[in-house]
Amino acid sequence: MRVSVFYNSGKKSQQVATKLIKKLVDCAFEIDDKNPDIVISIGGDGTLLSAFHKFSTQLNQVRFVGVHTGHLGFYTDWRDYEIDDLVESLKHDTGQQISYPLLDVGVQYVGERDQKHYLALNESTLKRVSATMVTDVYIRDELFESFRGDGLCVSTPTGSTAYNKSIGGAVLHPRLEAIQLTEIASLNNRVFRTLGSPVVIAPDEWIDIKPDQTAQDYIMTIDQFMPRQKPIERIRYRIADQRIAFARYRHMHFWNRVEDAFIGEKQGS
Ligand code: NAP
Repeated sequence: MRVSVFYNSGKKSQQVATKLIKKLVDCAFEIDDKNPDIVISIGGDGTLLSAFHKFSTQLNQVRFVGVHTGHLGFYTDWRDYEIDDLVESLKHDTGQQISYPLLDVGVQYVGERDQKHYLALNESTLKRVSATMVTDVYIRDELFESFRGDGLCVSTPTGSTAYNKSIGGAVLHPRLEAIQLTEIASLNNRVFRTLGSPVVIAPDEWIDIKPDQTAQDYIMTIDQFMPRQKPIERIRYRIADQRIAFARYRHMHFWNRVEDAFIGEKQGS
């Protein structure tokens, strides 16, 4: 089995990575950062996002494993002090995996013939900070609303606990085949009206946003990245054909993760 160890610049992550690589080599695993079967990310959920983007063209052959150097995360099943257990699980790997949907972001830039496609694991946003963002929102090619506000966010189910949650989106179970559209500070009054609540669309549906062409200073994000900031004619969001696969050696119930991350210790009544 070929394994790549991907880690962030934190001192703890580097120490854990050094220890893990030594153990893997001792157990006759091949360290391969070009064509791995397993990518082990060490850091946090943000580190796994970066690992995903590094290997996003190899999703058919790669399974991910997340090791968290802090608290337990949403993309991380292992803690840094569980390296021995992780290596044991890798030795007994039978190809077990669980996969989750990704977001396909098709961008039609002004003046370009072909759409450019990006893949997001958490979400993509379109924002305008200099003034109100004005954009038409279409669902399945039908005009749904004319949005005015700070921006819009489209997230995956696994991304629903990230930025989406901070702007009032719903937390979706990651086994759902769906994407969610969430508003960022929409302007709602007698003149301008949007739905004002998050929208979750079905697997065979798509969302188009067409920003007002009189402004050009929109900011598009894909997870932690801001790709080319060029004038955008239209963005089409749909569930991607590709999925992200995790080597799942043990299971933690999704709602336990949510409870652990956001609620924590509760006082009894
Ligand atoms: P960052 O600003 O360093 O980290 C943002 C936080 O989001 C970290 O605590 C990270 O967890 C957490 N996170 C990432 N993916 C998550 C997920 N699927 N569910 C729950 N929490 C998650 O940014 P980054 O590390 O480059 O990651 C970029 C992501 O951060 C974006 O995709 C966006 O979703 C999120 N973000 C959120 C806000 C907000 O909530 N206001 C603002 C900016 C960005 P770890 O500590 O485990 O890495």
